Amino acid sequence: MRILLSNDDGIYADGLRALVDELKSIGEVWVVAPEREMSAAGHSITIFDPLRVEKIQFKGAKNVKAFYVNGTPADCVKLAVRALMPELPDIVVSGINKGANVAHNVIYSGTVSAATEGSILGIPAIAVSLRNHGSHKKSDFALAARFIRHLVPIVLTKNLPEHTLLNVNFPHPPIKGIKVTKQAKSIFVEEFDRRLDPAGRVYYWQTGKMSYFKAGTDVDDQAMLDGYVSITPLHHDLTKHKAIPKIRTWSADMEKALKQAHKKK
Ligand code: MN
Repeated sequence: MRILLSNDDGIYADGLRALVDELKSIGEVWVVAPEREMSAAGHSITIFDPLRVEKIQFKGAKNVKAFYVNGTPADCVKLAVRALMPELPDIVVSGINKGANVAHNVIYSGTVSAATEGSILGIPAIAVSLRNHGSHKKSDFALAARFIRHLVPIVLTKNLPEHTLLNVNFPHPPIKGIKVTKQAKSIFVEEFDRRLDPAGRVYYWQTGKMSYFKAGTDVDDQAMLDGYVSITPLHHDLTKHKAIPKIRTWSADMEKALKQAHKKK
């Protein structure tokens, strides 16, 4: 089995190292990860700058091929699959992220995007995140990493539906069990701290906090807050299929708008 690992916390993150340590015992592990932290990079890619790749050696993981890239998580997975690996990986695993990726955070998450890139390329993928609890130590990731070692064979034997990835979020211990969930609708309420730089110019520092919407127990954030490992199947098709019939009823009006546009009115 060939496993490609990536993340958005950077090549030297403890969460990535925890996955390396566990997964090297079940397959050939490749690591292609950003050179520096790229959290909240979303699905951005680098097209106007060169991508440079450096090989590194993880201590105590001789057989693991590891590279860092001066790009985004999505760059890393694309580059690994299209240019660095001689054969396709059987699975892409991204993480373990320091901090949860639930609700709307999924959109901004580089961790999820690295896994999404796998699923876009037709490769089964898992994104793994650990709920924040201040300072994460390497040992905090061990349980989640061991779970992923046991989850990978399940995903590969049961066959993940095409273009689907699993978004896994670990709660604070003690862990009550597993819940298969949907993405919650909670939002991050931003605050912009207005400050002055030494030259007297205004700048803003973006902060804020999650505003949880109570939306039942089968949503990712609530399951995690309730002490369950949340597992959400995600896909990158952003179509709101249920809205198509309604928007089609607007067709005549929109055709008229197009005609008016042609008339330059
Ligand atoms: Mn991160």
